[in-house]
Amino acid sequence: MGLIIRSSSIHAAGCYTTTPIRKGTRVVEYTGPRISKELADEKYQDSPTTYLFGVGDGEQVIDGHGTAMFVNHSCAPNCQTDEIDGRVWICAIRDIAAGEELTYDYYLYDGDEDEALCNCGAAACRGTMYAPAEIKRRQRIARKEKRRKLARKP
Ligand SMILES: [Zn+2]
Repeated sequence: MGLIIRSSSIHAAGCYTTTPIRKGTRVVEYTGPRISKELADEKYQDSPTTYLFGVGDGEQVIDGHGTAMFVNHSCAPNCQTDEIDGRVWICAIRDIAAGEELTYDYYLYDGDEDEALCNCGAAACRGTMYAPAEIKRRQRIARKEKRRKLARKP
């Protein structure tokens, strides 16, 4: 399998395959040191970009290092992540042609940004990289916040 990193129309750099990949293939492992979520929050509190991947119950994260961290988010991805025996793999969910950019849906949660804008260009683009459940959670919080603000007015 030939994976290359080059500039992407989605975001900065992306990961492309130079050879066709069959559906179901484990394409690349999400590698990097495993650290606690607490430590990661501390380490990256002032950093706009992180490549953290929650594993297991989310108390541990992989501090991404290597090819997999260049795989961009898409709302209509050709890969997904699978946790297999404690290791995280980016696996093809359809046949992928040579020259295609690899993508998976980040389903972000617990982020600091108000909105993690998505520019994937898919017809079904959510406009954000947050997971649908996380979007709902944030909307609930925003509504409560609004009510509180309204209530504070004299
Ligand atoms: Zn999108």
